Amino acid sequence: MTTTLDHWINGAASAGESTRTAPVYDPAKGIVQKEVRLGSVADVGAAVAAAASAFPAWNETSIARRQQVMFAFRELLNSRRGELAEILTSEHGKVLSDAGGEIARGLEVVEFACGIAHLTKGDYSENVSTGVDVYTVRQPLGVVGIISPFNFPAMVPLWFFPIAIAAGNTVVLKPSEKDPSAAIWMAELFAEAGLPAGVFNVVHGDKEAVDALLTHPDVASISFVGSTPIAQYIYETASANGKRVQALGGAKNHMLVLPDADLDLTADAAVNAGFGSAGERCMAISVVLAVDSIADELVAKITERMAGLTTGDGRRSCDMGPLITEVHRDKVASYIDVAATDGATVVVDGRDGEFDGEAAGFWLGPTLIDKVPLTSTVYTDEIFGPVLSIVRVSSYEEGLGIINDGRYGNGTAIFTNDGGAARRFQREVQVGMVGVNVPIPVPVAYHSFGGWKASLFGDAKAYGPAGVQFFTREKAITSRWLDPSHGGINLGFPQHD
Ligand code: NAD
Repeated sequence: MTTTLDHWINGAASAGESTRTAPVYDPAKGIVQKEVRLGSVADVGAAVAAAASAFPAWNETSIARRQQVMFAFRELLNSRRGELAEILTSEHGKVLSDAGGEIARGLEVVEFACGIAHLTKGDYSENVSTGVDVYTVRQPLGVVGIISPFNFPAMVPLWFFPIAIAAGNTVVLKPSEKDPSAAIWMAELFAEAGLPAGVFNVVHGDKEAVDALLTHPDVASISFVGSTPIAQYIYETASANGKRVQALGGAKNHMLVLPDADLDLTADAAVNAGFGSAGERCMAISVVLAVDSIADELVAKITERMAGLTTGDGRRSCDMGPLITEVHRDKVASYIDVAATDGATVVVDGRDGEFDGEAAGFWLGPTLIDKVPLTSTVYTDEIFGPVLSIVRVSSYEEGLGIINDGRYGNGTAIFTNDGGAARRFQREVQVGMVGVNVPIPVPVAYHSFGGWKASLFGDAKAYGPAGVQFFTREKAITSRWLDPSHGGINLGFPQHD
């Protein structure tokens, strides 16, 4: 008998009314380990109703008390992170150390949200006109919806819900149906930390549940992370339904390597950023742009390092785990054949590897493809797997032009020892997050995360100051305490003296 994962509504597990379910795999074993419920319109309605009825009291709860709950959640999450890492590895497949890294980056946002008292302060201008003061306050939106992808089942929800809740909102989270248990584990932990029932709700599901959230009149905003076509759909649909929306999409991130770069350190960085989490990261490096004069040497150094990588069950001591599903593994692997047909050179074919895990696991080893033509789908598609492409360029200008012609603009990096070139790159590149000798430039929690172009729809980045701004709205108050000198009739537009 497989177990079925329930929703979390109004502070308790709920089976809801839908009878539809989806399988949740253990990708390293290639087996279905549980089923997850796929919520209906009514199930989303029940979660939104719970969040809406919890909102007035949570909004009235003092900042001090809300912060105490956040600190308690932070302590619990920190002390029990090992349990969460095991859940992530068993459903996503990423190796345990990488799952720990994901949790650490999510914890950063919880710690940032513990400072909500400082973050939501308004401004005050005294005596803007005689006896008149103007001040601003930031207030929560109400019920906010969050829809997250499979590749960071803990960290991406943590980008949003701690800030939303600390700011006084109530939340309905729709996590990925592929690895949904982390969201439920975090909701239970938050309840243990003292969060009142209904403030944080989790509804599992697919398009039906997502569409119910996007169109529900009591949902004030939508925060989405996932692939570009869905991000665009979310942005358009939720906006048309009058909601504030931030929708982060897919990516194809380039690393530009100039001839003066330290090639050993650059090769280490390319391997780490290309194959960590089996390439299933929106900030993974998937294309290395190598200037001709060093390209052969760089490819040799990357190949040498790849030979030492181990792929297997993330609970063992491997470098890289399986892919999320068999279907996704097959799709990623199909690009290796496309590469050969399109005239690229397959330097390392990940299908040939040995895997430290059960034969039925969704395995694909690290793959390196050189001389990839810009017209090939190996270059143009977001592959989202352990496939690293090399594109050779004649100069900095050619490399920059390729990056700026790209459809996505999530992350990029330059590897060089030339400060002038790096400075030029950071000014000229059309990408939202830039690394200088840093291959995965994910900003810390007190900055904000988000790409440009097809990597972000809307103008609101995730977490940091942008996150606080997204989950609050500003109110400006103009006030005076009347005295007899304020009397008299004057229909003119208010002016100051
Ligand atoms: P996805 O777009 O398939 O799914 C994301 C969410 O949308 C899930 O909760 C899913 O249930 C829901 N969804 C899927 N199809 C839908 C539909 N037709 N209508 C409504 N909702 C739908 O993405 P994924 O495969 O889970 O995640 C991988 C993608 O996410 C990659 O493209 C990756 O680059 C991207 N990603 C981006 C960032 C970023 O910050 N820009 C971060 C992580 C992942």
